[in-house]
Amino acid sequence: MASMIFTDCSSSTTKARLLPFSRILLLRRRAAGVTLVRRLATLPNSSSRRPLTLRSSHSQSAYVTVSLATEKSATAEVIDGKAVAKQIRDEISAEVMRMKDAIGEVPGLAVIIVGNRKDSATYVRNKRKACESVGINSFEVPLPEDSTEEEVIKFIKEFNDDPSVHGILVQLPLPSHMNEENILNAVSIEKDVDGFHPLNIGHLAMRGREPMFVPCTPKGCIELLHRYGIDIKGKRAVVIGRSNIVGTPASQLLQREDATVTIVHSRTSNPEEITRQADIIISAVGKPNMVRGSWIKPGAVVIDVGINPVEDAKSPRGYRLVGDVCYDEAKNIASAITPVPGGVGPMTIAMLLSNTLISAKRAYNFQ
Ligand code: NAP
Repeated sequence: MASMIFTDCSSSTTKARLLPFSRILLLRRRAAGVTLVRRLATLPNSSSRRPLTLRSSHSQSAYVTVSLATEKSATAEVIDGKAVAKQIRDEISAEVMRMKDAIGEVPGLAVIIVGNRKDSATYVRNKRKACESVGINSFEVPLPEDSTEEEVIKFIKEFNDDPSVHGILVQLPLPSHMNEENILNAVSIEKDVDGFHPLNIGHLAMRGREPMFVPCTPKGCIELLHRYGIDIKGKRAVVIGRSNIVGTPASQLLQREDATVTIVHSRTSNPEEITRQADIIISAVGKPNMVRGSWIKPGAVVIDVGINPVEDAKSPRGYRLVGDVCYDEAKNIASAITPVPGGVGPMTIAMLLSNTLISAKRAYNFQ
């Protein structure tokens, strides 16, 4: 039974029953009668809370103390992405207010969505809500599935020329008749808040160059390490996965911070042995519970990017989310670990807001 398998990590990932998003929506709808609003993250048990000092990179004060959950029986510190993301949103909100008061302008984010995919619509809605929550203006262009590439590019060009827009996102995936590369290349590099433009990726990879924007999810991983005061310099890091949007930029960011980085991918012959050498592990694969306790060096820090829906008959929704890392095993071996959900996930949108604010400050030369 999938739910038992993934509760205790007792079986291999090959038995994972991953759910496509369409099925998740179906299960969600079925479950709607039981629970309409269900929190993804488990609230920390107040009796097991202890204060931990988090570093803040946005606020004037260098350190902010928040209460973080720790497992009673485990040694690993739980890296609470939800709390950190909230802290970052508060900092951004204060900065947006300061900008508005000083120059009468606020940052603006434009999102173009083509077609009727429900998952894309959900992501876009979440981005809009996040913008609203910090005072960033959001502009949305929903286009029909049968729009042409030229129509999408026309809107991108309008946003490129619009001084009230500081970030442009094209929600992926695009319909199959469109050339994704042509469309993404049309986004001005100054407004590429996703950080996917080849020039931004290229600058990230080069020594002595600074990208205008860093891709949001890997940026969120590094931000978590910073805010928890985890040393990166001189450490051995293993990044599992080499995608353009997570694994590769994560490895580049770690290298820029003077870690010694190894990338593990689907053709790596001895991933367990290599990963066990790491002081810091970032896993971005998309395979539930692939990284077992035996892959982790005692005391290592584990950042789990994976978000994998697996069937769970006990859940009112019929599924639950797990990471790439077998949390139940890893928490007893690692010194710190991100949960799924509630770890890296909330950081991605926080970093999108952060990139949009950076872009607006740059546009208005506002310090
Ligand atoms: P992706 O494009 O599918 O890339 C997966 C990577 O994992 C590839 O580089 C692949 O290697 C590697 N891989 C596959 N099987 C492997 C194996 N058995 N051993 C080692 N490496 C293996 O995925 P992605 O877009 O990077 O996303 C990865 C995960 O992160 C997904 O679960 C996704 O949902 C999640 N994610 C989360 C966030 C967030 O906000 N938290 C954001 C983005 C993605 P090859 O290159 O050799 O094929």
